[in-house]
Amino acid sequence: MSVPIKVAVIGAGGRMGKEVVKLVLEDQELELVAAVDRSAGEVDAGSLVGLPTCGVTVTSDLELAFVEGKPDVMVDFTTPQSAFMNTEMAIKHHVRPVIGTTGFTPEQIKELDKQCIEKGIGGLIAPNFSIGAILMMKFAAQASKYFPHLEIIEYHGDQKLDAPSGTAIKTAEMIVEGRKELRQGNPNEEEIIEGSRGGYYGGFRIHSVRLPGVFAQQEVIFGGFGQTLKIRHDSYERAGYMPGVKLGIQKVMEYTGMIYGFDNFID
Ligand code: NAD
Repeated sequence: MSVPIKVAVIGAGGRMGKEVVKLVLEDQELELVAAVDRSAGEVDAGSLVGLPTCGVTVTSDLELAFVEGKPDVMVDFTTPQSAFMNTEMAIKHHVRPVIGTTGFTPEQIKELDKQCIEKGIGGLIAPNFSIGAILMMKFAAQASKYFPHLEIIEYHGDQKLDAPSGTAIKTAEMIVEGRKELRQGNPNEEEIIEGSRGGYYGGFRIHSVRLPGVFAQQEVIFGGFGQTLKIRHDSYERAGYMPGVKLGIQKVMEYTGMIYGFDNFID
């Protein structure tokens, strides 16, 4: 068996970070060498996620974690305020960053790409690690060339602040890139109740459903002569992001520079 990739998890006490700690502890191709969180306290990382103790104590000192643990890869699920500095620190120590934290600016990504190239290491910033969600977006963009009439419906929990979701917007952008311009529906259509036809984007409509009990789902419905096609993705829990995180950890070992977007790894 090949040597496991040494991983440091930053934000180890958070909702996503705990899933990553579990992933790393339970996967023989990965080895947890450091767990960093600024508010979890000095607990064993295994106990923190409900697994047997693993001998790695959660620390709040990122630099010490890099010096002592000597990780190959850092996985960061923290906050937009700290992720940029964490990433710079990782690159400084030749640790390849895999970043799930959202909110990086294009300038920051460019700067981090430069730093990765200078150190000769790979990095990944991926706002969505769900392989299924990325395939759903790609398939929808492909289908829109043959079925140009479509609507997007996305479903999220009732406490979500933004509508439509980032994934719905990204899907719409990808569709518009490939689809010939087309304003769908009857030009004389009237909305009896305002908003009932959803949000308008590039000729089609996006509908946002918000309900308790829902995690994250999206479907793109295409209508043609005598037929409809539905492309749908359902996320039920955070564990669904983990196959993507693992692929990211493996991929960053193979190239130099910072890649933005997990879709770059999926043909
Ligand atoms: P969370 O609030 O549950 O966890 C964040 C954790 O990071 C907390 O435990 C906090 O103590 C810790 N933290 C904050 N700053 C730190 C620092 N400087 N050093 C060490 N630890 C620090 O948040 P979450 O729900 O796990 O989400 C984290 C990020 O991941 C958000 O930006 C979210 O948008 C993003 N996210 C990305 C994906 C994806 O697929 N890429 C999926 C879900 C969430």
